[in-house]
Order: sequence, then structure tokens, then C-alpha cells
Amino acid sequence: MMARLLLFLSGRMIRELRCEDIFTGCAHVEHGPDIRTLFAQFMAHVREIHGITSPTPELRIQVMTAVREVHAHAE
Ligand SMILES: [Zn+2]
Repeated sequence: MMARLLLFLSGRMIRELRCEDIFTGCAHVEHGPDIRTLFAQFMAHVREIHGITSPTPELRIQVMTAVREVHAHAE
């Protein structure tokens, strides 16, 4: 728990969202420093690529549950 907190505070953890978890077959992967930023960036992708201008509550929940926490140097 403490190690995770230290990693978080040192800024080495980022949020990752794989579009294929929501839209099967889409290879897009979004990264962001926090969920709010990630969500905004991902919604821009969803609007441009998948044509969804107003996400439903169900889609929002899908997105929130698909977010992972990864090390910034993972890729
Ligand atoms: Zn996509």
C-alpha cells in the first residue's frame, strides 16, 4: 500500500484506457495522468472515430471500469 502511494506521488503511475475493451476491434489506446483527463481525451476519440457525440450513462460506466493504472514507463 505504501509502495503504491509512493509510486503515485512520484508521478510514475498513469491511467490507461484500451478502446477495444469498449469497442471491440478498435486498437486505440488512450493515456492520461488522471481519470478526468483520460475520460475527456477518450470521449474526443469516441466522438471522432465512433460517431458518439453524447455518451450514455452505460458507456460512461464501461469507460470508468475499463481504466487501468499502469507504470509510465510500461511501453
Ligand atoms: Zn476507438
